[in-house]
Amino acid sequence: MPISGVYGPEDFGNPIHRRVTGQARARVTDAERARALPMPSLEWTPEVERATAHLYEKVKNVIPEIEWPFMAPYIKAINELKRERNAVILAHNYQTPEIFYGVADIGGDSLQLAREATKVKESTIVQCGVHFMAETSKILNPDKTVLIPDSRAGCSLASSITGADVRLLRERFPGVPVVAYVNTSADVKAEVDICCTSSNAVHVVESLNSDTVIMLPDQYLAKYVASKTRVKIIAWKGACEVHERFTGDELRAYRSADPSVQIIAHPECPPDVIAEADFTGSTAHMIDWVRNNRPKRVVMVTECSMADNVQAELPDLEIVRTCNLCPHMKRITLPKILDSLIYMREEVTVDPAIIDKARRSVERMINLKN
Ligand code: SF4
Repeated sequence: MPISGVYGPEDFGNPIHRRVTGQARARVTDAERARALPMPSLEWTPEVERATAHLYEKVKNVIPEIEWPFMAPYIKAINELKRERNAVILAHNYQTPEIFYGVADIGGDSLQLAREATKVKESTIVQCGVHFMAETSKILNPDKTVLIPDSRAGCSLASSITGADVRLLRERFPGVPVVAYVNTSADVKAEVDICCTSSNAVHVVESLNSDTVIMLPDQYLAKYVASKTRVKIIAWKGACEVHERFTGDELRAYRSADPSVQIIAHPECPPDVIAEADFTGSTAHMIDWVRNNRPKRVVMVTECSMADNVQAELPDLEIVRTCNLCPHMKRITLPKILDSLIYMREEVTVDPAIIDKARRSVERMINLKN
């Protein structure tokens, strides 16, 4: 059914679209300099080539051989520093292949990373993704040091809503349970009843046993969920700046050029895009769909690096590149990850009072039975 309403800051007398992530990157502080490790050599040597040959095997379909000598010294140095710092690297599916296959210990979508974050034994987590993901790791592991290589890596969804907006929504709709997509700040997670990801959103909404649910901040994910359930959905006017750029016309053009092409889309896309798709699912579900169905040609309607990561795993698959890049995800690079481990920066902190409240919403989602 259609969503019951879609609200934004202007509906509460505040026309300003507030930004809560994406702060300016601070210079290396004196304290960071004091605990810094020496800068490793970044020369391309036969030893570096030998040490990274098994990693190049994984990405040789998507990274030209000529580029590897520029990446491999960073990859070797990062992997050595990880051991020295007792650190683990979590990387989202939208990270580039040299990060995803070269230095990450765990890769996946937001739900997989949140689940894995709870099992980390190392003392430090380096989050290769965006700021809300690093906050989620801190919420689930308050005793660990959580680093993000560039704290400006924000998200248009997370920055579309604040905790104060959620309190205003609750005043407008008293008693209606609130579900927050994990693409929100810790402040927002602390104000809601439960979190969801694009993998489990329908299940989470139905688990609340309510005929109406507020679902925020992604209006398109809310519309997608509303099309799959009888629960009435009240939405927020947020959108992913990567997925909202796709159009149904674009997909119809791909299909008319090749009627046999399979189109798979992320539920953050607008409804006319989803209407054209043969399959809709989270990044993890899209990857599983491709692995299981092995189409000859596929259009992956999501962030561009995920297609590269899938191509590295399935070299025979023909992927039609839609190429919408997330500028926030792309702020994370090998040099910044190295910097992060040398200086132990930029540390992500969350107010302990917010952590306790936000953890309840995230854990309620993680503990939900399938
Ligand atoms: S792809 Fe969209 S939802 Fe994901 S981090 Fe970038 S802006 Fe946010």
